Amino acid sequence: MPHMVARSDSLDTPKKWQHQVANPVTDSSELFTLLDLATDAHGDELVGALKASEAFPLRFPRSLIGQLDSGNPNHPITRQFLPSAAELNDAAGYSADPLAEQEAQPVPGLLHKYRGRVLLVTTQVCAVHCRYCFRRHYPYADQRDPEGLWQQAIAYIEQRQQITEVILSGGDPLSLADQKLTTLIKRLEKIPHLTTLRFHSRTAALFPERITPALVELLENCRLNVVLVTHINHPLEISDQLPAALAPLQAAGVKLLNQSVLLKGVNDGVEPLSELSEKLFSAGILPYYLHLPDRVSGTAHFAVDDETGKTLVNGLRRRLPGYLVPRLVREVAHEAGKTLIG
Ligand SMILES: *Cc1c(COP(=O)(O)O)cnc(C)c1O
Ligand code: SF4
Repeated sequence: MPHMVARSDSLDTPKKWQHQVANPVTDSSELFTLLDLATDAHGDELVGALKASEAFPLRFPRSLIGQLDSGNPNHPITRQFLPSAAELNDAAGYSADPLAEQEAQPVPGLLHKYRGRVLLVTTQVCAVHCRYCFRRHYPYADQRDPEGLWQQAIAYIEQRQQITEVILSGGDPLSLADQKLTTLIKRLEKIPHLTTLRFHSRTAALFPERITPALVELLENCRLNVVLVTHINHPLEISDQLPAALAPLQAAGVKLLNQSVLLKGVNDGVEPLSELSEKLFSAGILPYYLHLPDRVSGTAHFAVDDETGKTLVNGLRRRLPGYLVPRLVREVAHEAGKTLIG
């Protein structure tokens, strides 16, 4: 099994993750060279990638490059982060905001769709840009001042007793420095009706270095129940370092769940999905959701239909214990929760 995340022990831990997060490959020409795709055979793909990254910038994790098969744009990791001409196609039924998230924002950056829980778009920054991202058209530029927006969000939560859980999402909340997270969490802890704090993070698994002692301490001392929902789509994303990096979080009482997106050409098979569930379990994480992709413009080439999704999950049910079978869901605009499929 290749190591997904190269270790460089010469850097101290916090600096190491900040360097990785701050230093992705952002230029398609450079990426094609690094992945050995800069040959005549891939010339059209490069033109498409350059165009696609104008609409949604390229952020490819540099630390992963050494672990990918060179010359293969369809490696299950590469495909998730490599821009492609297919993103420029306008497919029928696809739009910028199919979930009507813009309507569900009582204050900018706070989504209140489900009764007892709110989702805070904590930051606009992600360590990586997943090409299938359902928030790729989110007007992040409107929220230049996240801390100012947090104030408004906190005031909104304080005024509503029915809200018991705050979900920090984004962007990726773990792309914030520990100091900023501390400020936010200390503030949320003071709201008496909150019981639970949840993180949705892609960074946690891709960069185990992000799980710093300071982060563990912050969450260990938090009054709220803490849940970390990792975002892992393929078993190759789980590095050998991840279980050890997560162990202190578990010891601190943090519950670990995973959500995946079902993506054509990435994980749409019983084999990768069952291996994913087993590897997650070995790392102390339980599978939570398997999302059918949202119909967001530029992502139709990743679409998997409901029937295929149901067949795959039935296949998992025959192979795995029930607690390793994720719930197959789709998000439907204006529904009071995720919609279970099958
Ligand atoms: C997915 C989502 C949640 C969380 O839903 P759960 O079913 O509790 O995981 C909350 N708010 C928004 C806006 C969401 O999209
Ligand atoms: S980490 Fe999540 S929010 Fe960020 S680009 Fe990927 S899917 Fe989108």
